[in-house]
Amino acid sequence: MLTLTPDAAAAIAAHAEATYPDECVGLLLGRLEADDKVVLGVFRAENRWQGQVTLAEGDDPTSRRDRFYLDPRDYMRADREARSRGLELVGVYHSHPDHPAAPSERDRVGAQAIGGTSFAFVIQSVRSGSAAELASWLLVDDGARFEQEEITIWP
Ligand SMILES: [Zn+2]
Repeated sequence: MLTLTPDAAAAIAAHAEATYPDECVGLLLGRLEADDKVVLGVFRAENRWQGQVTLAEGDDPTSRRDRFYLDPRDYMRADREARSRGLELVGVYHSHPDHPAAPSERDRVGAQAIGGTSFAFVIQSVRSGSAAELASWLLVDDGARFEQEEITIWP
């Protein structure tokens, strides 16, 4: 289960709206308690997608509207910030402009490079510039598929 403070949830929504119609990306700072994760802050990263991967013909390789790239250096910066606050990285978030909060095949491949088995992959849907549904996913079966996990906003 993933628990977000109202402030953390609002920060993800605001970031997703600010980068619309491009995807945003960031890290979740918090505490891991058994399999439960509590998110107490967010770290806004830059979507550094610049066509790092060759895609299908006809695809615009520089578009950030349906993909993101999380630079490992940003991951390290977020990790340092988490440690300085006595927290740890418990997940990553990105937005889906005008798409449901369900992970794409590209997300599944990308997620295999980030985090461990309990790492949360949070997706914020944005519709016409306004934050919509929020969902959290866990990579299971050795990265073969995502499984949705429950989100609680608390307190
Ligand atoms: Zn995605």
